[in-house]
Amino acid sequence: MKRLWLLATALLALTPLHAQDARRDAEKQLFAKIVEIPTVEGRSTEFNKLTALLTTEFRKAGITNVMVKDHDGTQTLIARWPAARPSGKKPILLMAHMDVVEAKESDWKYPPFKFREDNGWYLGRGSNDNKAGLTGIVLALQYLREERFAPTRDIVILFTGDEETTGNGARRAATEWRSLIDAEYALNSDAGGGSVYPDGRVEAFGMQIAEKTYADFKLTATNRGGHSSAPRPDNAIYALANAIGALERHRFPPMINDATRATYEALAVADKGQYGELIKRFLADPQDRETADLLEAMDIGSTRTRCVATMLSGGHAPNALPQKAEANVNCRIFPGVKVEDIRQQLQSLSGPDVTVSAVEGSQTPETSPTPLRTDVTEAYKAAVATRFPGAPVLPFQSAGATDGAFLRSQGIPVYGFGGLWGIVGEREGAHGLDERVWADGFHGQIPIWMEMLRRLAG
Ligand SMILES: [Zn+2]
Repeated sequence: MKRLWLLATALLALTPLHAQDARRDAEKQLFAKIVEIPTVEGRSTEFNKLTALLTTEFRKAGITNVMVKDHDGTQTLIARWPAARPSGKKPILLMAHMDVVEAKESDWKYPPFKFREDNGWYLGRGSNDNKAGLTGIVLALQYLREERFAPTRDIVILFTGDEETTGNGARRAATEWRSLIDAEYALNSDAGGGSVYPDGRVEAFGMQIAEKTYADFKLTATNRGGHSSAPRPDNAIYALANAIGALERHRFPPMINDATRATYEALAVADKGQYGELIKRFLADPQDRETADLLEAMDIGSTRTRCVATMLSGGHAPNALPQKAEANVNCRIFPGVKVEDIRQQLQSLSGPDVTVSAVEGSQTPETSPTPLRTDVTEAYKAAVATRFPGAPVLPFQSAGATDGAFLRSQGIPVYGFGGLWGIVGEREGAHGLDERVWADGFHGQIPIWMEMLRRLAG
């Protein structure tokens, strides 16, 4: 591993400095173009622009098999680099999403869709989530082609256009377009990458292998109502308030899986203090509620399913008994637990005067963690080591959901992978204000992607 790293450093040293600068500049130019196309939900012409640009860039990488699907008011791009020396292995799939979260210009320090460089950071909506990863994949493929890389298996690319909203692109890819994207496993740039301390030490590079299921539930209390001068014990607002109170006090049972266990095992080694002790106790007995509760207070959502009331409405007049009261409860369900099981538990907590129903269309697919594979984990470590020798790679579970869930639920293993890194303690503003990405992380991801692909498809 060390020899390889020295070799990579030696090669880099052979490239003249001005050539390196020119490369970095070209990479930045492409990234700027991509960030400045405001691919927000509903702006379909912007998706046309981005897919046209990406098609041209893929051609530069010699990839001519590029398909753009128009669907659901957005687009999905699927491209394929066929094996040059086929080994018989199934393709690998590289994933990113083209869409970004809406950004209100008046709230931002600078216009969100104007690319900007500031003090070592690249700014703009989508710079972090997920256009850096997307651009990194494109550039890595171009450079691999330049160095005459001959893949031994097909490399397939899936760029969706609605990850932040409906996930229709990933859902359709995993089902109706399955033959176009089918792969032994997928590497999802939206769910990997590293964090590095300001002094250059690496905290870890993450590999997402599990996601919680998102689901909304409606709690509804109805009542015959009446005149408020004559209150009765039965009251829709009181019934709903009691149900919400019961939910506030409720704790779902603690759980553990391969992803959270791997994260905790690494943290237990890293933390020599009280936190580390707590983790060791939890690992020794994941059913120990008291330990899990203490841990949950620090790592919110990592030891169990969590549900929380998020919206409330009720009544129709100040002087009338309420005929209806409603609340929305948002749940992040632990992998392996059925949405219907959670609905039933919420129903029994709420009592007979409140009806609990799942909000149709709200949920992401129910998934189990993707089993770890030594070849992928080892390749990830080796790829990162070309830049950060000995850096740890840490499997983890996301509290939120990505496109990966749609593939996992259809039997395609998905690994969060990325060479991109951020700086520990520095805000990046994904989905929020003044979104940005660490410039060295952006450029530095490209050779890491290249090494990953050499190892898995070379
Ligand atoms: Zn994303």
